[in-house]
Amino acid sequence: MENCIFCKIVNKEVPNYTVYEDDFVLAFLDIFPHSKGHTVIIPKKHFVDLSAMTEEEWQKMAVALKRVEEKLQTVLQPAGFNIGINDQPAGGQVVPHVHWHIFPRWEKDGGGSVHSIIKNPGELKVEEVWKLFGKSS
Ligand code: AMP
Ligand code: ZN
Repeated sequence: MENCIFCKIVNKEVPNYTVYEDDFVLAFLDIFPHSKGHTVIIPKKHFVDLSAMTEEEWQKMAVALKRVEEKLQTVLQPAGFNIGINDQPAGGQVVPHVHWHIFPRWEKDGGGSVHSIIKNPGELKVEEVWKLFGKSS
């Protein structure tokens, strides 16, 4: 996709610090890291968000994530990880090309957990939310 920074990285028009690569994905160090070794994993093909991908395509991302985490573990030896996707603008997505963030974490590094992203559960009780799923759950 024209003017997409991540497509430009895939096409080698913009340099990157590659951590892992296979036929379907590219994983590289984030240039504005939130922790040492902060990496983004992207499909080489342009998908604007998660809803645009098939289950089969996503499976390849999941396999790559596991391999990237193992690589980061071997090289940097963090004490843990946070793994997350800012999916769509309301979810904080800035670059409109699917990407999965992986943050290596260390004891007492000053960070929070995924729970610190939002605390705004709304008015409905959990049971009332569950009922909205009807038979689809
Ligand atoms: P998001 O807010 O989830 O859309 O995250 C986009 C991420 O891409 C941010 O963490 C940016 O620091 C990162 N980013 C943007 N441009 C580049 C680039 N050229 N190389 C590596 N990471 C980038
Ligand atoms: Zn793109």
